[in-house]
Amino acid sequence: MRILITGGAGFIGSHIAQACVEKGFETYIFDDLSTGREENLFPEAHFIKGDLADAPLEDLLADIQPDYLIHEAAQASVPVSTKDPCRDAEINILGTVRLLEAAKKSNVKKVVYASSAAVYGNPVRLPIDESHPQHPLSFYGVSKYVPEFYLDLYWKHFGLPYTVLRYANVYGPRQVAHGEGGVVAIFADKIKRGEKLSVYGDGDQTRDFIYVSDVVAANLAALERGTGEIFNIGTGIPTSVNQLIKAFEEILGHPVEKEYLPPREGDIRDSLFHINKAVKELAWSPKVSLAEGLRRTLSS
Ligand code: NAD
Repeated sequence: MRILITGGAGFIGSHIAQACVEKGFETYIFDDLSTGREENLFPEAHFIKGDLADAPLEDLLADIQPDYLIHEAAQASVPVSTKDPCRDAEINILGTVRLLEAAKKSNVKKVVYASSAAVYGNPVRLPIDESHPQHPLSFYGVSKYVPEFYLDLYWKHFGLPYTVLRYANVYGPRQVAHGEGGVVAIFADKIKRGEKLSVYGDGDQTRDFIYVSDVVAANLAALERGTGEIFNIGTGIPTSVNQLIKAFEEILGHPVEKEYLPPREGDIRDSLFHINKAVKELAWSPKVSLAEGLRRTLSS
């Protein structure tokens, strides 16, 4: 089986690429290395450097002839999307349409697309299921959402099968701590450096943290199942920032220094996914506990 992973030099994409290599798939990675890193690449995977926004994707897919396409590449930062909405849309929206146009003309059996909790915006009810209202609060949220409609239309008009996976807060080794790194990566990095953790607000705000290997498993499950469907990929377990710090402290065996700062404007208070649809239809479930995931993250 031949698989092409866009964004395969990034955090999540590199874990998917690793799993594909380990499964013996002929693995190709397409990435412009803008936030991805060369050291995340595996020698067993073929690497093509290019920008989704202007690379000759039709020629590329005609050459590779992948059976499956896992589309992880994106401009994945909310602040960057606010600073430069044009570039954000160029990569996330137009880049995806260019990829679908190329996939339509090759014999791709399915496109699996990495979407985000950002498509929902501020939750009006918890847990968030797939039919929860979708009102993105950021340009990034919009640019991750719009391709979901293109995927559906490419399926309906041209018979190109797809599955959309909306990820909760993903964490694990290789996640970068700067920028939009995510609180787990930022905390793990500060702990390793012996620095103080900054908590915005009272620390009781909650998120649904999912370990990266569980996201990889969802992607592999989606190759076979869930065509034409959208799935939330999280744990269904809420964890507050204070609980997260406690979990780190339990692993370390000692308290960590922390400071409480004013809440950040625009931060969502609570977010939690309802994951029953993925459990049922993808025959998938998250396996890695927070304690185990944090242990693996800290020791990476
Ligand atoms: P990442 O920044 O580590 O990975 C993105 C990859 O895409 C990088 O390797 C980058 O170099 C590449 N890329 C960016 N622009 C490109 C372009 N124009 N052409 C080719 N390659 C390009 O981020 P990640 O956290 O691994 O995110 C992977 C996917 O998951 C993204 O689509 C993101 O929107 C989605 N997602 C991530 C999270 C999370 O918690 N990390 C949550 C929800 C959704």
